Amino acid sequence: MAQLLLVEDDAAIRGALIRALTDRGHAVSSTPTAMEALQLVLDSPPDLVILDLGLPDLDGYEALRMLRAISKVPVVVATARDDEADIVRVLDAGADDYLVKPFGVGQIEARVRAVLRRAAADEGRRTEPVLVGGLRLDGEAHEAALDGRRLDLSRREFDLLYYLAVRAGQVVTKRELLTQVWRMPYGGADKTVDVHVSWLRRKLGESAQQPRYLHTIRGVGMKLSAPS
Ligand code: CA
Repeated sequence: MAQLLLVEDDAAIRGALIRALTDRGHAVSSTPTAMEALQLVLDSPPDLVILDLGLPDLDGYEALRMLRAISKVPVVVATARDDEADIVRVLDAGADDYLVKPFGVGQIEARVRAVLRRAAADEGRRTEPVLVGGLRLDGEAHEAALDGRRLDLSRREFDLLYYLAVRAGQVVTKRELLTQVWRMPYGGADKTVDVHVSWLRRKLGESAQQPRYLHTIRGVGMKLSAPS
C-alpha cells in the first residue's frame, strides 16, 4: 500500500480523489496548500505526491521547485494547462508525470502506479554497495564508511558522495549535480555544491589543497577517484 499526499485546493475534487484512491488501496493524506504540503513532505515523507499546479498560496512551478529542493519523492502534477510548453516546464521542474484536468480516476490511478513502479525500479538498482578505494557506500542503508570507519553524513552529503562514487573517474559538472542530486535544473547557485563538497572533504579528512578522493576540475566540475 502506497502512502500518497494529495495537494489540491478544490474541496470537491479533493474529496472525490481521496475516496477513489482509498478505494483502490492507497493511503491518502491531503492538504489544500503548497506550504503545508512542503511541511508534510518533511515531517512524514509520502511515497508519491499528487500536486495541483493551481494552488492559492504559491505558484505551482515554484511549489514544485521547492519540493524538489527538499525531496526526491515522485511527483505527479495535475494541471489545467495543456499546451506543450507548460508540460515541458512541469517536467523540467522535476515532475515525474502529469495529468491534464479534467481527468478520470482510472487515469490518475494508472499514472500513480506507473510512477511508483519506476521509482521502485530505480531503488532496486542500488542494492550492491559501491566501493572506491577505501570508500564503501551502501545505497540501500544510506551508510558510508571510509577505511572501515563509519562516516556521519547528512542525507545530501551521502547523495552527493554516492552520485560521484557511482561515476568514479568521470568528471561531473556542477550543473549536473544541481540537477541530479539537488533536483534543481535551473538552479540555485553553484555555491551550494561548493559548500557541500567542502563539508564532505572535511568528513573524508582531506582538503581542496590536498585532495585524496574529491578532485575539483577547475572550470568544469568534480571528480571522485581512489587515491593512487
Ligand atoms: Ca486548484
